[in-house]
Amino acid sequence: MFRIRHCLLLFISITTFLQAQQPKKLNSSEIYESIQKLNVLGSVLYIAAHPDDENTRLISYMSNHLKARTAYLSLTRGDGGQNLIGPEIRELLGVIRTQELLAARRIDGGEQRFTRANDFGYSKHPDETLDIWNKDEVLSDVVWAIREFKPDVIINRFDHRRGGQTHGHHTSSALLSLEAFDIANDTSKYSAQLEHTEPWQPTRLFYNTSWWRYGSQEEFNKIDKSNMLNFDIGVYYPTKGMSNNEVASLASSQHLCQGFGRLSTRGTQQEYIEFLKGEPLDDSNDVFAGVDTSWNRIEGGSVVGNVLNEVEANFNFVNPASHLPQLLDAYRALQNVKNEHWKAIKTQELKQIIEACAGLYLEVSADAPSASPNSTVGLNMEVLNRSDANITLVSYNLSTLKNAISKNIPVPENQRLNFSEGVLIPKDANYTTPYWLNGKNTLGMYNVKDQQLIGLPETPRALFIDFNLNIEGTPLTITKPVVYRYSKPDKGELYRPFEVIPAVSSRITDKVFIFENDKQKDIEVTIKAGKDNIDGFVQMAYPENWNIYPQKQRIQIAKKGDVQNVIFTVIPPNQQSEGIIKPMVNVDGEFYTNELVEIDYAHIPYQTVLMPNESKVVRLDINKRGENIGYIVGAGDVVPESLRQIGYNVSIIQPEQISADNLRNFDAIVMGIRAYNILDELKFKQKFLLDYVKDGGNMIVQYNTSRGIKTNKIAPYDIKLSRDRVTDENADVRILKPDHTLLNYPNKITAQDFEGWVQERGLYFPSEWSEEFTPLLAMNDKGENSKEGSLLVAKYGDGYYIYTGLSFFREFPAGVSGAYRLFANLLSAGKEDLKPLKN
Ligand SMILES: [Zn+2]
Repeated sequence: MFRIRHCLLLFISITTFLQAQQPKKLNSSEIYESIQKLNVLGSVLYIAAHPDDENTRLISYMSNHLKARTAYLSLTRGDGGQNLIGPEIRELLGVIRTQELLAARRIDGGEQRFTRANDFGYSKHPDETLDIWNKDEVLSDVVWAIREFKPDVIINRFDHRRGGQTHGHHTSSALLSLEAFDIANDTSKYSAQLEHTEPWQPTRLFYNTSWWRYGSQEEFNKIDKSNMLNFDIGVYYPTKGMSNNEVASLASSQHLCQGFGRLSTRGTQQEYIEFLKGEPLDDSNDVFAGVDTSWNRIEGGSVVGNVLNEVEANFNFVNPASHLPQLLDAYRALQNVKNEHWKAIKTQELKQIIEACAGLYLEVSADAPSASPNSTVGLNMEVLNRSDANITLVSYNLSTLKNAISKNIPVPENQRLNFSEGVLIPKDANYTTPYWLNGKNTLGMYNVKDQQLIGLPETPRALFIDFNLNIEGTPLTITKPVVYRYSKPDKGELYRPFEVIPAVSSRITDKVFIFENDKQKDIEVTIKAGKDNIDGFVQMAYPENWNIYPQKQRIQIAKKGDVQNVIFTVIPPNQQSEGIIKPMVNVDGEFYTNELVEIDYAHIPYQTVLMPNESKVVRLDINKRGENIGYIVGAGDVVPESLRQIGYNVSIIQPEQISADNLRNFDAIVMGIRAYNILDELKFKQKFLLDYVKDGGNMIVQYNTSRGIKTNKIAPYDIKLSRDRVTDENADVRILKPDHTLLNYPNKITAQDFEGWVQERGLYFPSEWSEEFTPLLAMNDKGENSKEGSLLVAKYGDGYYIYTGLSFFREFPAGVSGAYRLFANLLSAGKEDLKPLKN
């Protein structure tokens, strides 16, 4: 049990201090604020679904005004969002958004927790969300967060009573919070967790309501608020020179990849929380009513509290070091406290205060930003005491070494001590990479087996150092992670976390290569050295029937960080086939197969992420008719690029360019996903599109959501969009009209074409349509009715109108052969007498 606590707390101290800039050193005001916080033993857990859902005004108020230990539990890492600042999407976006949350918490004073839930994208209803997430696992993780953090108060961001009216992830976060509140104290629930922690009953559960929940400020003014508490979240902090809402704006402005940078606000402002569950409220407007949040809360605490309250009441801003004797008294008394939970938290806080009061400068900086296992790195330690306290450096202890290195050197006032050590990174050291990306993930869940890692925002650093000190007769250990300190002439002094990386990594530029015929293609592989003097070879793993030459290529890279590019020629088989190609780099007898992704933005610490380096190769057996495709971009997809990969000429048509003359040139017109939800112009341009069909054109409309359609005539005949979707990508597909041209010409579509689909079958299928439409396919998720609206075709005049909710936009980038073949048939509708398009 001790080890876990140590691990979690170590982690907290590291995240507090590890930044893109110099690790934080507290000034007098900050020391004073830390002492105020040290004297509060109350805690608040705020729960929502995504990075940027959290109300930083309230988190900052709880942390900075009430001085409570405050955390934000974001069920997901926001992998499904869009990235406004760079190319990272999905898992890599989740890494950025995790760091943005940590950056926000460094400003508002909160801590950060997660569950294993994967942000799979938009979800209309909590039922659907909880189906795609593993509800039991996410609930387990919320219970785990409550048992570990032990909040007195939980505040939900979202209303559990509003299912279907907001993102399904949002309502789910509230529902899971309610359920977890009821079972976290039940030892029969998720009892395996109790090997590592204890059951816990939070005192109260609230919902962070607002006027917008009621439609308007006016409506909100009218309602009975007797079950609500309210706070002035515009309160001013003289020690910060800022109002609470200013702090909150700075914190939420860290969500830069979501475009959340915003102006700060000031002045009085009310925030409301609605009581949902737990101990009834009294008339005090106190979120902690009935909970003793003083040191008297814990046995043996009053002795500590007496000393520390005295320090707070008479704090010496000019010379905080004058409090060292009292702080050390409190530290020793704290070690006798029985409550392990508070003892661990308060010990950590108190050590940071003692360190700051003594003006201690403790740092360990590596002579390189990274190193690979089994290589040596030089560490430089700086130890400086900027007070008149008697301090001795007894020893220091590297995390890679079993025994401490004994020193027993006095640290005289303001005399810098420097030490250096060469350290061998152990052969089995873990690479610095997000732990939740190490397992095989599903659409809904990250796979993390180690219970002690679940919930942590980051992988605990492998390399750190314990400085074992004696301060005025009291032994005290202060732990520091290894950092890399460097400077740039145009930026000044900079810090980076120290990284353990593989000896070598590799990269192929594209994740999918489509071969629409049997012509060979050259692909480039980039090999990057993680250490000096790489001498080895690279070979490619590839599927049966395929060929890649040469078999092996020698790799020689002299300098760490340099790269070597090699070209391999890929020869596809004659028939349809797909598989994975993977560079395997062999150095010193060991194979390396990962890509090392670097994420470097100014507002978050530098990150490295190891991802499997593999690309899909697809040899299509595909026939096509028609050549020139007009594409009207909707919410954004890579369908145009994918169609170009298989040899079509694709022109993007701007909505304002839609005209009879313009459309006439195309063999088919394809509407991008959700085009009718977002393009206002379609209200006026739809008639040109339908006339184009009537005159013999071929129009393919991809999915739109059922609400907010810009035209009342999306199709030439009646059609009703619904929220029907089939989320199981392996759901059985039944061919309703096996003889229909669209399923036979020019490619014969069979059950095989529905194998290997990813993420889902499709979404927002029409649920009703007029008799002119022919449904071609039927499918459904387990336990649901058969859905026949995924692919509808109608003859209109001389042309064809096709509506499809099938997720071609997801299948193409994943290189799904059947999706390409079926789409080629849709594009070929009405072109039976055309000659085949030359490959
Ligand atoms: Zn959200």
